[in-house]
Amino acid sequence: MSQNGSNGSVAEPLMMYGGAFHPAIGGETFVSTNPADGSIVARIPFGGEEDARRAVDAAVEAFPGWSGLTAAARAKHLHRVADLLEEQRNEIALLITQEEGKPQVEAQGELQLSIDSLRWYAEEARRAYGSWIPDPMPGRRLLTVRQPVGVCGAIIPWNVPCAMIFRKAAPALAAGCTMVLKPAEATSAIALRVAKVFVEAGLPAGVINVVTGKASAIGNVFLNDDRVRKISFTGSTEIGRLLLRGAAERVKRVSMELGGNAPVILFEDCDIEASVRAVAALKYLNAGQACIGANRLYVHEAIYDEVADRLEQLATAMQVGDGTQAGIQMGPLVDFKAVEKVEELVADAIQCGAKVRAGGSRMQGQAYENGSFYAPTVLTDVPANARLCREEIFGPVAALYRFSSEEEVLHVANNVEYGLSAYIFTENMDRAIRVAERLETGMVGVNEIRIGAAEAPFGGVKESGLGREGGREGLDEYLETKLIAMRVK
Ligand code: ADP
Repeated sequence: MSQNGSNGSVAEPLMMYGGAFHPAIGGETFVSTNPADGSIVARIPFGGEEDARRAVDAAVEAFPGWSGLTAAARAKHLHRVADLLEEQRNEIALLITQEEGKPQVEAQGELQLSIDSLRWYAEEARRAYGSWIPDPMPGRRLLTVRQPVGVCGAIIPWNVPCAMIFRKAAPALAAGCTMVLKPAEATSAIALRVAKVFVEAGLPAGVINVVTGKASAIGNVFLNDDRVRKISFTGSTEIGRLLLRGAAERVKRVSMELGGNAPVILFEDCDIEASVRAVAALKYLNAGQACIGANRLYVHEAIYDEVADRLEQLATAMQVGDGTQAGIQMGPLVDFKAVEKVEELVADAIQCGAKVRAGGSRMQGQAYENGSFYAPTVLTDVPANARLCREEIFGPVAALYRFSSEEEVLHVANNVEYGLSAYIFTENMDRAIRVAERLETGMVGVNEIRIGAAEAPFGGVKESGLGREGGREGLDEYLETKLIAMRVK
């Protein structure tokens, strides 16, 4: 499929449910655009309630057959999807950059995580053991079996548009669930491209379905249809709260991966050079649009000036541009609304007294025309009352705060409603363990920013969410434990 063909035609991918491709029932469409230059990437079906209901019908119909397969048989299907992703990885990675904006190397990373998730859960589901419980009563046996939750509704955001599909679909399908997935509007073409892979891989019809269009209408079908037994959501805390309220009505199971406000702590005993490089890589990953991104950089006063200088150098030297081009380290933000939000936060910080050490504005020049680019930015002396200290920045702005003691920095690091990830840099392993244990987050990186893997549980505490994706825990999210108590003569 050519996404933006050389003849000027625009790709018009269709929704996929029940193993077949469909336009929106109402015939409506919307366009998704390339944030690097504003060009149209694809025309997408704008589905709604009825489209979602048909997709749920398909998932319901597929459930008995799919859940009735052995885990080994389901694993074969998942490996086949992974094989096709491997074959088509360059084409899909290119589409990710065109529609979402991240550089090719990051898009390839998404493909790798997608493939890893499929292969890992294909294997892990074969180990969804039940148990035989020592019984306190004679003449009875207590057994447990682990069964799939049922039909799941998944809603994903635009910032990790491919891997996020598999973070949810791989464990769900491996466990024996079927799924209807709704991507974010901005990155719908990627999801529909992946939907083609599911069909090509020969997955039974209805096992996975992708509907695009009106978020609230599709979300309401997930919430109100009794046949949907679980909602898996990644996105903002605001929408997560709304879905949680809705799910409460029918007591549906939920997995929620919500916002973050990650503290990054550089202690005076860290390896400064390596730490600052890691911090820059984390901060400017996906142009700062990552829920695990560095939101607050706490730097010990003894190394503050040196860290600020090094970070300024790295930020200023970054190659920013269209992520399809070689050597580009940071692409555009997802859209101009995102740029405006960052501008607002930076203006507020400056008004509160912060100093701009690098960036602090949109990228200037012809190469950036029509693209939603914002410069890699470093702010120092940011006061704690600045909005970006409390809010998720979701942009390439490094905000530096000064601290003088471990106790003090732990207090401020934990003093937010979020609790997704945190990072500490220190060469003192006693301190690393002490601080890691006391940070109120679901994940802590110690001298390490790459905290994700198919094998590892990813998720937050506090208002950052409920449940885990990845790892053994990620499979549990899609399984129910059933007790079987038997009288034995
Ligand atoms: P972000 O700020 O990252 O865009 P959102 O929470 O707004 O995060 O969006 C994440 C996902 O939630 C997207 O797929 C979006 O379309 C979807 N979404 C937004 N509003 C609703 C809603 N009312 N019901 C269900 N899904 C929604």
